[in-house]
Amino acid sequence: MNSKELDSLYYMQAFGRDLKIVKGQGCYVWDDSGKKYLDCVAGIAVCSTGHCNTAVTEAICRQAKELIHISNLFYVPNQAELAEKLVKISGIEGGRAFFSNSGAEANEGAIKLARIRTGRKKFVAFKDCFHGRTCASLALTYKPAIREPFEPLEPKCTFIEYGDLDALEKAVDDDTAGVILEGVLGEAGVVPAPEGFLEGVRKICDEKGALMICDEVQTGMGRTGKWFYYQNTGATPDIVSMAKGIASGLPMGAIIAREGLSFNRSEHGSTFAGGPIVCAAALATLDVIEGVLPSIPEKAERFRKGLAEFNPRVCGLMIGITLGEERCAEVAAKCREMGVLVNCAGHGNIRLVPPLVISDDEIDEAVRVISEAIKN
Ligand SMILES: *Cc1c(COP(=O)(O)O)cnc(C)c1O
Repeated sequence: MNSKELDSLYYMQAFGRDLKIVKGQGCYVWDDSGKKYLDCVAGIAVCSTGHCNTAVTEAICRQAKELIHISNLFYVPNQAELAEKLVKISGIEGGRAFFSNSGAEANEGAIKLARIRTGRKKFVAFKDCFHGRTCASLALTYKPAIREPFEPLEPKCTFIEYGDLDALEKAVDDDTAGVILEGVLGEAGVVPAPEGFLEGVRKICDEKGALMICDEVQTGMGRTGKWFYYQNTGATPDIVSMAKGIASGLPMGAIIAREGLSFNRSEHGSTFAGGPIVCAAALATLDVIEGVLPSIPEKAERFRKGLAEFNPRVCGLMIGITLGEERCAEVAAKCREMGVLVNCAGHGNIRLVPPLVISDDEIDEAVRVISEAIKN
């Protein structure tokens, strides 16, 4: 049996898929028939340094020959070095990091931390926000179709319109532990926060003693042209969560919390998180991103100009084009046929989240194919 048949028989059918990718290099991937694609999905904003980036692959191999795993009962090679680097780039004063194995798990950490340090129980989140599939992160995720079948969920969460500060003011009370938000709605189709929104959230959180949690799982690690989206604004969160682009495809997430907000002994833990190999991969990834970060605005502008006739929403290398559900699927299929991978995010939006190392020529190629697919 081939792997598609095996998948249909032995794997839980939670994903709709029909393409098998077997190789990746830079911004390109190849399927099992040898067809080459320009990858504007990049694992959904994961393969930030491109596929199999040499520096990252070498760091992984080097560490794999030294030590693959050691329990967090011991100091872990590369872990503290990565924590230092992340805290410094976050700009969070007196911050400390804690590692996880995914974005949802990073948000779990943020939820636990907010609850234990505030002594409060509830959260406020926004309509169309996505924070993960584990039970607590799902409780803060809006999409009824994926959340409601699992209710009742904890913690209690109130969902309000994204961008509505008046509603936020009313929703946050003295039992609200935290307000969690994405600076750009990712799964909902690349919708950037309205001007002044994060600053407004910051102010309300300060007034009411709730923590501001920025979910930068998708927007972080340079995706929007700064290390973190909030650095485009005048607000800094109490806790930031990150994952997708952090380790070039190895499973990793992290939270950073400000001074005075930290887990104490035994309050949180993980067997695998922050292991030697993922931390080595993340350190190498950060080096690569540091090199390309200054070029992100120009690359974003190139996409914006190239796709201007379709009114794209461009936030660094996170790009959304509204087409409607049906058209979106058609255009994605057409792009694939013509050798470019794009993703259909929520509400009928094409989402482009290419590797941050994408070249001008590759951007032009993506623009040409996507434009042709939309026009046909
Ligand atoms: C993808 C995503 C998550 C969940 O990350 P996983 O690694 O899939 O658990 C959480 N928040 C946001 C904003 C995301 O885009």
